[in-house]
Amino acid sequence: MTAFQRVVVLGSTGSIGESTLDVIARHPERMAVYALSAHSRMQRLAEQALASRAAVVVVPDTAARQKFIDAWPGGQPMPEIRVGAQALADTAADPQCDAVMAAIVGAAGLPSALAAARAGKRVLLANKEALVAAGTLFMQAIRDNGAELLPIDSEHNAIFQCLPHQGRADAPHLPAKGVRRLLLTASGGPFRGRDLQDLHDVTPEQACAHPNWSMGRKISVDSATMLNKGLEVIEAHWLFAMPADRIDVVVHPQSVVHSMVEYDDGSVLAQLGQPDMRTPIAYGLGFPDRIESGVGPLDLTRHGRLDFEKPDLARFPCLAHSFTAMRAGQGACVALNAANEVAVEGFLEGRLAYTWIPRVIEAALEWQARQASVTLSSLDDVLALDAEARAFAGNLGLA
Ligand code: NAD
Ligand code: MG
Repeated sequence: MTAFQRVVVLGSTGSIGESTLDVIARHPERMAVYALSAHSRMQRLAEQALASRAAVVVVPDTAARQKFIDAWPGGQPMPEIRVGAQALADTAADPQCDAVMAAIVGAAGLPSALAAARAGKRVLLANKEALVAAGTLFMQAIRDNGAELLPIDSEHNAIFQCLPHQGRADAPHLPAKGVRRLLLTASGGPFRGRDLQDLHDVTPEQACAHPNWSMGRKISVDSATMLNKGLEVIEAHWLFAMPADRIDVVVHPQSVVHSMVEYDDGSVLAQLGQPDMRTPIAYGLGFPDRIESGVGPLDLTRHGRLDFEKPDLARFPCLAHSFTAMRAGQGACVALNAANEVAVEGFLEGRLAYTWIPRVIEAALEWQARQASVTLSSLDDVLALDAEARAFAGNLGLA
């Protein structure tokens, strides 16, 4: 029988967080929420904590703490409120919890995801920026502490499902025998067919209108620029111990095939399903069992056809920059991610044109290449370079 799981959901008010709570609520006999965290929207956090009977909530500062208290409807005992970034990492490592959903957006999610790995938890990793910025450290922490790692990003979850792991979540990082290539599918985002000249004036609302997936705003913009796919190639490299030249990207606009594994004998295994993150989330929460996710059946006859094409690197320079960063090494990956976070925030706040996002990234990669080489052997090393790259990117092209 599977042991009862107490789950920490980091970033519970986000898109992945909401989907995670939906799946957990379907299985009261095998799992429950232990703690929730959010950076804003305290009203929503209070509603979630009430509905899930969370024992603990983690909020960023004392102002947020007060907002949470004001939003608490009473009736039930209030959860313990923990405050600040250290509390976030401590809660991810809390002895009271078994599994941690790492669903904070951006490198801000790295310290808590790493803390969960170091505490030997079952880590459900949605936050891809953590692996991009600190792949070596993070995978080392999983290995050294007997943690389990279940990839939640749909492509990586698909690949995990197609690899011959014999039901082991502590082994995705071991090179799988007989695997020739990983094929990551990409929808191409909302601007797949658009003329390059039209892209300069696109608005945040247009960039966030993803044709298939409903997601947070940052990853939606990343999907539009296809930097998201670049981050995912780097993520796949770390998760599955796969060199860059054996990871390919295939544009597949319908988002039905979530990714594929090609074997030496010519077999290609794929995982298919509706574009709904509750499928990979349920896979991670239920592993090794298959549990109900709330996602309905896939009706292939409704789709009729599935298309596949090569990515257009001229239209999506961010994808090319990601391959450059991956080949250049960990420092370049930190710079790539940090510059992108700064540029996307500038774009979403109306301070930066859409077409400047790849330019800021390219400049940050050039800047990083000029720096004396740094060792990134600790979390502090990574966060220091991340901060420097942000400072550099913040001074570029922003009005
Ligand atoms: P989102 O913006 O909807 O939610 C982000 C969550 O993180 C919120 O709860 C927010 O309060 C919290 N947060 C934001 N900044 C924070 C900070 N500085 N410190 C602590 N908490 C903070 O994001 P999302 O779409 O749910 O994505 C979350 C992560 O999962 C991202 O890394 C994304 O790349 C990854 N992911 C998302 C999807 C998806 O379908 N949404 C798919 C694959 C991977
Ligand atoms: Mg993905």
